[in-house]
Order: sequence, then C-alpha cells, then structure tokens
Amino acid sequence: MAKKKLKPTPESIAYDNYLSRTGFAKCPITTALIDMDGVLFNSMPNHSKAWERLAREYGWKHEPNEFFLYEGMTGAATIRLMMSRIGRNDISDDEAREIYAKKSKYFIELGEVGPIDGAAEMLNSLRSAGIARVLVTGSGQASLLDRVNAAYPGVFSDNLKVTAHDVKHGKPDPEPYLMGLKKAGAKPENAIVIENAPLGVKSGSDSRCFTIGITTGPVPQEQLSGNGADIVYPTMRDFADGITRIIAARNFSF
Ligand code: MG
Repeated sequence: MAKKKLKPTPESIAYDNYLSRTGFAKCPITTALIDMDGVLFNSMPNHSKAWERLAREYGWKHEPNEFFLYEGMTGAATIRLMMSRIGRNDISDDEAREIYAKKSKYFIELGEVGPIDGAAEMLNSLRSAGIARVLVTGSGQASLLDRVNAAYPGVFSDNLKVTAHDVKHGKPDPEPYLMGLKKAGAKPENAIVIENAPLGVKSGSDSRCFTIGITTGPVPQEQLSGNGADIVYPTMRDFADGITRIIAARNFSF
C-alpha cells in the first residue's frame, strides 16, 4: 500500500463509508457482479411497455413508470403483486408462468433492444483491471439471456451467470448476489455490485458488497442512494470513467 496521501475523491469517501457500514478492512476488488437489464441492455423501456400491455389486458391499475421500480423482481413476483390489486391472491405457479410467458412474448414483439451506452467500455475496464465478471440478473427472459453472449462475446462464462432460475428469492432479497459470490468463490468485501434499479441496489447492499448505482432510465438518483447504493453515477460512461478511482480508493491512502 502506497504511503503518500492523496486528495479524497467521491469514490474514496464512498469506500470509507462502506467500510464503516460493513466493518470490513480495506482490500482489493477481485469480482464484479453485474446486473443485465438497464446495465448491459437498454431493455427497461420495452419491459415496461410489455408490462403495461398486460396491465391493460388484466385491468391492473398502476402509476406511470411504476414497472421501472419493480425491475429486478422475478416475473412471478411482479405478477402476484399486480394480480393482488384485482383481488386475486390465489395465483398458482402455473398461472403465473402462463402470464409471464405472455409478457415475454409481448417483450419480443417490441423488437431487439440495444446495449447501454458505455457498457462495453465498463466491461473492458473491469477486464483490464483483472476483475472477474459475473452476470447476476433477476431475469428469466430467454431472448435476452441468449443475447448476452452475442452482444458481449467471451465476457461471461456459463458458470459465472446467475438468473431467475438459480435462486428461490429474487431481488430485493440478497440471494441473487450471494449466489453470484458463491459461484465466483468471492467474499463480499472483495466484490462490487453494478446495478441500475432500486430493488437491485437493495439486494446488492444487503449482500454487503460495495454497491454501485447507475441511473440509466427514469428512476431518480435518490431512489438508488435511498436503497443503499454506496455511490451513484448519472451515466454508464461516468461509471466506466470512475472505475480507476474506485480501484485507487482500495490501494492508496486518502
Ligand atoms: Mg437492472
């Protein structure tokens, strides 16, 4: 560890606060646990449209942009929440699956979604720093999961992916990120979580990883910091630029 003292950065201050909240000692980053929707793909607008189409069909009342807030939840959990609003608290797993299949179909009909601007740079910066990259998504949307390998070739090996099918409890439960740590053989103090959604941030923060929130959609920054993000960036490019400072916060004295 270098002896010289540097001027504090937002990243070094955020890391100090993280060490206070967790009680961990300063240590390097080995692993990045990376969300998919809204982090790798600009898929949330279409997810929201697909949910809104279902809402019209079933008579679910909802606020504008409300479905952006449920990002990270499993499809079944969102369906149960919305069905309870029309007095249906008795949805079977089969019925939830059927409705989710419909939602997936509507999502596909909206066409292919593009990558998040800056995501490729972010993944490259992590690789250059020797940080293992692990996919941790609440999604079970096959059309997108299949596209991860095509859009980001060679980034995620199959044994370093957590999807809706790997966990019992989706985000905001910490299980998905704890499962990511387990698959990577990493400890929370050595990992960072990269998230764009309030429930995903909560999941990451409760897994005790240093949790980075990036606003890539209509959800305001305060929703991410309020749910436990250790630091929030306004765009993916800002985060990609911040990675060297996040790493420096671990290696130098401020
Ligand atoms: Mg997301």
